[in-house]
Amino acid sequence: MYDRQDIIEMLHEYNVKFIRLQFTDILGIPKNIAIPVSQFHRAVAGDIMLDGSSIRGLTGIEDSDMYLKPDLNTFTILPWRPKNGQVAKLICDIYTSNHEPFAGCPRINLKRIIKEAKALGYTMNAGAEAEFFLFLTDEKGKPTTITHDKAGYFDMSPIDLGEDARRAMVLALEQMGFEVEAAHHEVAEGQHEISFRYSNALDMADKIITSRIVIKAIAQSYGLHATFMPKPIRGIDGSGMHTHQSLFQGDENIFWEADAPMELSETALYYIGGLVKHAKAITAVTNPTVNSYKRLVPGYDAPVYIAWSTKNRNAFIRIPAKRGISTRLEMRSPDATCNPYLALSVMLKAGLDGIINKIEPPAPFNRKFELLNTVDAQLSTIDVLPTSLAEAIQFLEDDQLIQQALGTHIAEHFIKLKKEEWNQYRMIVHQWETDQYLGRY
Ligand code: GLU
Ligand code: MG
Ligand code: MG
Repeated sequence: MYDRQDIIEMLHEYNVKFIRLQFTDILGIPKNIAIPVSQFHRAVAGDIMLDGSSIRGLTGIEDSDMYLKPDLNTFTILPWRPKNGQVAKLICDIYTSNHEPFAGCPRINLKRIIKEAKALGYTMNAGAEAEFFLFLTDEKGKPTTITHDKAGYFDMSPIDLGEDARRAMVLALEQMGFEVEAAHHEVAEGQHEISFRYSNALDMADKIITSRIVIKAIAQSYGLHATFMPKPIRGIDGSGMHTHQSLFQGDENIFWEADAPMELSETALYYIGGLVKHAKAITAVTNPTVNSYKRLVPGYDAPVYIAWSTKNRNAFIRIPAKRGISTRLEMRSPDATCNPYLALSVMLKAGLDGIINKIEPPAPFNRKFELLNTVDAQLSTIDVLPTSLAEAIQFLEDDQLIQQALGTHIAEHFIKLKKEEWNQYRMIVHQWETDQYLGRY
């Protein structure tokens, strides 16, 4: 926990010249305003303004003057910026012109849901796995879709050419206070993963956003382009953002119960029940782009079926083998085009709904999904995740609880922006169509 004096000392100690005040728009795009260090006292007083009307989904034009209120605990140095005159960052909440917390601020929204969980006695812990591709850039510095290497899962150099860039990313993240659990080459050519040890939900959302900035910046310094686009290349694995979740009471992980079947508590099962019940509407938030749905297809380690499993990695929810304090579920559908503040808001809210209303989850599915087309009573009842952004948005519009998890302001703006995005896509004539139809008809 830092106070104002701690920060002032660090600003001197590290010879900081600029502070970036970071916040996130509804679509999960990180934004920042850089202030010279002389303006720090104004930043702490919540006196730095932004024009909300020019940031998508943040506000209507009638109230465009907003204030940024930094959370001092989020202070870090940006290790890749010049050492001589360093740059620091602070993550901020957005306040209205009347200095009230703004309902359209995704970070404030997550705090609201965290408070709801607290009122019930729970603290959510979450961990995330960041998967991304490293692509070569062209002579103008623009990203291509030529993968940087030809390596595969857990490969090493010399075929894993991303090793050095990944190492620099991990070191930078560690300097910024991340506890990196693992970093490795992923399944597809040019694909990598860095996973973070769990933390409370707000800290994890901050870390997810920050990690995207760090990973991209370091890649750029190696002349590479890092992308979190869920399915940049057809025919090979896409990139997910598997999200590990558990509830704690004090120091105790209440998802674990040593004597229960699978050592999972009733609370854990109800939480899963809530996630399963709201899975389709949640998907609009955890997989919010047109491209997200090109990843959620069979055959590429991404989930398709709304099932949970202690074994199957293609399930929507997998229960990793670890028990005790590490008991958790891994939700495998999210991808890194999501706004992590909103994604954690809807996942937590759905889990709490499961607990409050004692929603029983279906039986775990521990067989192979390839069997799904065979005649089997259990299999035929398993539902699937939405197959397009349009479908997912429709499910969100039909799910009051998940809209409440976003709050009215964000839900309305989010749905409107996503419908626009879908409509833009819908009106494009794609290469596939001309390939298929131009000659044939
Ligand atoms: N890249 C896969 C996905 O789309 C996941 C691979 C893994 O199991 O880590 O979710
Ligand atoms: Mg992975
Ligand atoms: Mg995983």
